[in-house]
Amino acid sequence: TGTFDGLRAVVTGGASGIGLATATLLAERGARVACLDLFPDVPGVPEPLLGVRADVTGDASVRAAVAEAADRLGGIDILVNNAGIGAQGGIEDNDDDEWHRVFDVNVFGMVRVARAALPYLRASRAAAIVNTCSIAATAGLPRRVLYASTKGAVLAMTRAMATDLVAEGIRVNCVNPGTADTPWVNRLLAAATDPEEERRALAARQPMGRLVSAEEVAEAIAYLASPLAGSTTGTDLAVDGGMHGL
Ligand code: NAD
Repeated sequence: TGTFDGLRAVVTGGASGIGLATATLLAERGARVACLDLFPDVPGVPEPLLGVRADVTGDASVRAAVAEAADRLGGIDILVNNAGIGAQGGIEDNDDDEWHRVFDVNVFGMVRVARAALPYLRASRAAAIVNTCSIAATAGLPRRVLYASTKGAVLAMTRAMATDLVAEGIRVNCVNPGTADTPWVNRLLAAATDPEEERRALAARQPMGRLVSAEEVAEAIAYLASPLAGSTTGTDLAVDGGMHGL
């Protein structure tokens, strides 16, 4: 039997990268999974995953998508709050609109989805939330002030929510990936002057000398989401090739 037999999961940003790898892994281990994404059909969320369109920047969109997912899955036990976007630059490089835009996805998006999912999680016997944070929350990476600030908020939100929800049996944890080999990072690399050199530089930044794989991050998320982590809440798990130790 699978670790997730009988459990129902919602994964935001589930149509690409870390989200898709996580949704696939949870389904392989027995979960029924809905992938909430702006583009659930591009490149195509494969069966048996269920694609549901959602924009995490809109409260009505989120509520409708979470209700549809719960309806089609028969409830929600696990929320993987993963949708996120990147931002580059130092403190003077992004204007107010850009700060609002990135916080709206990376922070308020997770707040909206968590709020919408909580009534369903309360009805579960194995409720868990896993937020995709980033090593950027604490690593002081160069030219990532806005992105790092959003992930710092996710880290704080994870710990605070874990405290508030522990008595209700809802666990809340997060993962901190290092630079991971996903379509997002590949888009960034494609835009670089010398993509191969940039890939080597990103890999060299991590002590293991390579990028993290989406599957490795998915394994960490799956562990924290599973009943096997039943005594674990309020933690962050680094999957970063050793970067957090520096
Ligand atoms: P990705 O771009 O491959 O996938 C992100 C998915 O989120 C996409 O399918 C996209 O459509 C969806 N999404 C974006 N905005 C959305 C919105 N408003 N509403 C609904 N869905 C939306 O990226 P990824 O690399 O898999 O990143 C996933 C998460 O991992 C993000 O939270 C990111 O911050 C985090 N992360 C990534 C890395 C990395 O190096 N790739 C490192 C640390 C943390």
